[in-house]
Amino acid sequence: MKIIRNIKEMSEVAKKHRQRRKSIGLVPTMGALHEGHLSLVRQARRENVFVVVSIFVNPAQFGAKEDLKSYPEPFKNDLVSCRKEGVDIIFHPEAKQIYPEGYKTYVEVKNLSDLLCGKPRPGHFIGVATIVTKFFNIVQPDTAYFGQKDAQQAVIIKKMVKDLNIPVEIKVMPIVRQKDGLAMSSRNTYLSAQGKKDALVLSQSLNLAKDLIQKGLRDSHKIIHSMNNLIKNKKAAKIEYIAIVDSKNLKPIEIIKNHCLIALAVKIGKARLIDNYLVT
Ligand code: AMP
Repeated sequence: MKIIRNIKEMSEVAKKHRQRRKSIGLVPTMGALHEGHLSLVRQARRENVFVVVSIFVNPAQFGAKEDLKSYPEPFKNDLVSCRKEGVDIIFHPEAKQIYPEGYKTYVEVKNLSDLLCGKPRPGHFIGVATIVTKFFNIVQPDTAYFGQKDAQQAVIIKKMVKDLNIPVEIKVMPIVRQKDGLAMSSRNTYLSAQGKKDALVLSQSLNLAKDLIQKGLRDSHKIIHSMNNLIKNKKAAKIEYIAIVDSKNLKPIEIIKNHCLIALAVKIGKARLIDNYLVT
């Protein structure tokens, strides 16, 4: 396994593999790798000759008051995990190479970036779309792997690839959860022992929604109301949003007919957690 920090070197190595017609799989991450990330890496490993994992805490997707400075960076552990999974390249560029002085170009997927998580985090998805575009250009993968955990991100990346005719296939892998139901996240490390218990209310509220739908309830407003009541029972939980939306355009749905996405963001202490359930 090779660690590459230089953009030009990354491009050249990837180009060599492409010329030898070796399929390239890319897994973009911000590091602090857990089983959720590793599920993407394993899928990439199964499907490609050459696997690149990028580890880059992207400053462009953090707001001024967010956790850029405290974001966990256990780089050595990440290397151990990636080596174990048979990753070929860790692409770990420096921020000043990615955004050199005078950097000016950003990618915005309109009418999707400003919804759900985009409301409290203006600019977040512009940062995400920009870095993913840059990594697609640098690595030029055949397939890139993302997690359903970040449902809105997956929708935005798919739309961006379609709109900009970027020649990459996007694969979205299911949410990996702890045994107790908590969706794995690098930000779970911010949770105290009590916070870890309180955080279970996110997946519990999604399970409640699932049960209500199975029992025949279709009114989004009523489902959201029940989820809201359950979460509000936890004093430490601060709901940012609970939404039932179309799984492609992320517009609110009043009455559930077939596919939709139930998504929520809740703060537990200083950890901002997201989770979702795809109704199919
Ligand atoms: P991050 O490092 O948080 O930017 O995540 C990198 C990729 O891993 C994104 O595509 C995430 O959606 C995905 N991911 C993060 N957590 C999980 C999880 N619990 N299950 C599946 N994929 C995940």
